[in-house]
Amino acid sequence: MIDRAEAAIPADDWVRLALETKRDGGALQDATWHRLIAGYVEGSVDEASMAALAMAVNWHGMTDAEIVALTDAMVRSGDVLEFHGAAVVDKHSSGGVGDTVSLIAVPLVAACGVPVAKLSGRALGHTGGTLDKLEAIPGVHTDLSAERFVTQVERIGCAIAAATDRLAPADKKLYALRDRTATVRSIGLIAASMVSKKIAGGAGAIVFDVKTGRGAFMRDTGEAAELARTLVALAARFGRRASALVGDMDEPLGAAVGTGIEAVEARDFLRGDERDPRLADGVLSIAHEMLRVGGVPERELTPRALDALHSGAAYAKFVELLEAQGAVPGAIETIAPHPHRVSALATEAGFVAAIDAVAIGRLARESVLADGPFAGLRIVGRVGTPVRPGDVLAEVLGPSLDPRRVAAAFTIAPAPPAPRPLIAAVIRDADLIGSAK
Ligand code: URA
Ligand code: CA
Repeated sequence: MIDRAEAAIPADDWVRLALETKRDGGALQDATWHRLIAGYVEGSVDEASMAALAMAVNWHGMTDAEIVALTDAMVRSGDVLEFHGAAVVDKHSSGGVGDTVSLIAVPLVAACGVPVAKLSGRALGHTGGTLDKLEAIPGVHTDLSAERFVTQVERIGCAIAAATDRLAPADKKLYALRDRTATVRSIGLIAASMVSKKIAGGAGAIVFDVKTGRGAFMRDTGEAAELARTLVALAARFGRRASALVGDMDEPLGAAVGTGIEAVEARDFLRGDERDPRLADGVLSIAHEMLRVGGVPERELTPRALDALHSGAAYAKFVELLEAQGAVPGAIETIAPHPHRVSALATEAGFVAAIDAVAIGRLARESVLADGPFAGLRIVGRVGTPVRPGDVLAEVLGPSLDPRRVAAAFTIAPAPPAPRPLIAAVIRDADLIGSAK
């Protein structure tokens, strides 16, 4: 079907004609996507038109060419950061619970010589925000100016900062509209949203961590794998190396769930005091892909990551990053979980079959709001653990949260659940080249 907007006369009819085209399952030309996005940002294309467009896209989808055009238009709606030297890597997670991976993987990868420029959003709903975790450390700030962000990455090899309003402003406006109109969950719109922000942030290579399960945008692994493939192919169209991991969000990744206590967990992990095996698995999988897209040869990926971890170089880089972002010297050594502890106990015998990550995320947020940044939860009984009545499922840090509410987020079953891999699939740019349509 032809794009009726392209041939529109008079000029003010083009928006309605573009909507007719999408309503009837057609595809829009690149120029029409650019006109729509530019018009939406400046106000000449109204919210009603964009809402109708988003709904039509949710129904009919977009062609690959349309996704590229929309992404390009959103990148061009604002500033684009530029780094000198080696391509910088960014990592995007679609929101996890107890996901301390960024705090650990960013300095770890930088310590291996691959620069990392990590732009993050604030916490959304039940998911913890990386920025809040960093800001729990006394003195640390994440609202870096674009210039400071770029110079810090060029100087020490890494930075973690809040994305400013000047990067892909069209995405910000469109995302808020999609949120109000139940049109978030369209693979084309999600891919354009994620990739445009990373390209505007100056990323030369990108790793996407696509979560599935309850509370994630993508409910099942098939849908998540399709988003993963779309993200990697889209990044490649912009000349960016990329990988996407499809991961399970059915149980929190690390043991600590909160804000400051996740910074404590990251410190202990990097320093080698304590390494939760599941978190280690998540961290090394992500770091591996970040190093790969950053140009490290395949055979050196694992040895370099392990060496940076075990030599203390990754921890030293973490301290350097914190101090560059204002940390009070020594603060990272002295932060500690809230001293008040109560245990959430099992009331029946069996095996931990599931942990409701959404409920755990919400309870941890409540705890932090009531008792401060070093309150929250520590998961003790991971999925698969055998339990008897009175065994500890989790520790509640801080006096305000009723531990019985935390215990209720654990499902105990008579038999152990089938083991599930943490990473269900990894999509790499190199794998897509052979299968391109
Ligand atoms: N995360 C994003 O950045 N954009 C989306 O559209 C969905 C999730
Ligand atoms: Ca954690």
